[in-house]
Amino acid sequence: MSAAVVSPSADQEFARYRADFPILAERIHGKPLVYLDNGASSQRPTAVLDAERRYAEHLHANVHRGVHTLSQRATDAYEGARERVRVFLNARTAREIIFTRGTTEAINLVAQSYARPRLGPGDEILITWLEHHANIVPWQMVAEATGARLVVAPIDRRGELDLPAFTALLSERTRIVATAHVSNALGTVLPVREIVALAHARNVPVLFDGAQAVPHLKVDVRALDCDFYAFSGHKMYGPTGIGVLYGREAILESMPPWQGGGDMILTVSFSGTTYNALPHKFEAGTPNMGGAVGLAAAIDYLDRIGLARIAAFEHDLLEYATERLSAIDGLTIIGTARAKASLVSFTLAGVHPHDLGTILDQEGIAIRTGHHCAMPVMEFFGVPATARASFAFYNTRAEIDRLVEAVAAARALFG
Ligand code: PLP
Repeated sequence: MSAAVVSPSADQEFARYRADFPILAERIHGKPLVYLDNGASSQRPTAVLDAERRYAEHLHANVHRGVHTLSQRATDAYEGARERVRVFLNARTAREIIFTRGTTEAINLVAQSYARPRLGPGDEILITWLEHHANIVPWQMVAEATGARLVVAPIDRRGELDLPAFTALLSERTRIVATAHVSNALGTVLPVREIVALAHARNVPVLFDGAQAVPHLKVDVRALDCDFYAFSGHKMYGPTGIGVLYGREAILESMPPWQGGGDMILTVSFSGTTYNALPHKFEAGTPNMGGAVGLAAAIDYLDRIGLARIAAFEHDLLEYATERLSAIDGLTIIGTARAKASLVSFTLAGVHPHDLGTILDQEGIAIRTGHHCAMPVMEFFGVPATARASFAFYNTRAEIDRLVEAVAAARALFG
């Protein structure tokens, strides 16, 4: 790894995109903001903010039920956003795209509608030690309700999935595999193609939690051949309160609705109710139309830059940050997988991550500290918490330099 891994021209080119994000001009405690908490929520460009505003000012009404013009505009905008997501993921049909509140709701939908009716005592749900709580707790709830067992595939000290162990844990009792695509606590990119091949060889469907993958990697659900894929808008430069569940059409068709209400029905009477077709069957109640429109605008924005170019630039930023942070005395990087995306988790001897987060905040630097909703990962590495700097394409080497200087100063003062 060389120190000058980011070419100055790429740095300059990507730095130009900063002007698209008004919030990046904020000052925090009198210092220019360095926003390195993108793994929790990334910031929104003007293109997204404008799309949300345009929707609210010119298109908004309730969808699907109205004959009046605004309702039709809102429906067109909402369904247009669904088609935009379909293209983004390369799904076969927009019937495979369910809008949700986010990754959490998408996984709960699969847990409650796919897994819960199918599972019984002795059946197994296979996840990994790397998971965010959103990909643990919904499965624990299903296991509790059905008598099924949650089986957890181990990771190694680099934070990589132990693939032979995962293979051995896939059994004739496994009913679903659910793993992260990219770990939010460690940045590990999981071997998703191998996971699908291994599971499908046993006819086991696979769900990927793509919350940390979609902002950084090009995802093609047909090439991946996964059965479910979940992600959130707010981690990919879109709004909060909107996310997506992709599901293979035949599987979604076989699943009962999970929430009842308006929009998910065709007819309702006290002698019986008939359900709407996909994807509406899974979207009870008034959806987040403005959020969907904002998400589509975020996808357009990302497409204009190009996810492959973003991935290459962020990879260089990650290498630069890894090398500079590693050189700080007493700093230990947690998560050293060979395939990593866009974040560094670390501990600093003598300084609790929460204290470090507060010290950095005084310098205008926003990082996340804590267990990152991945307590089993912390337990595995024997740490209560880590500090996490997570990058977006609008971050710069100069910002990483500021992070490194502030961390080194904290170490010198308190470590
Ligand atoms: N999965 C992963 C890997 C995440 O990083 C997150 C959020 O941090 C989630 C799931 C939950 O996403 P949301 O809170 O948007 O539902």
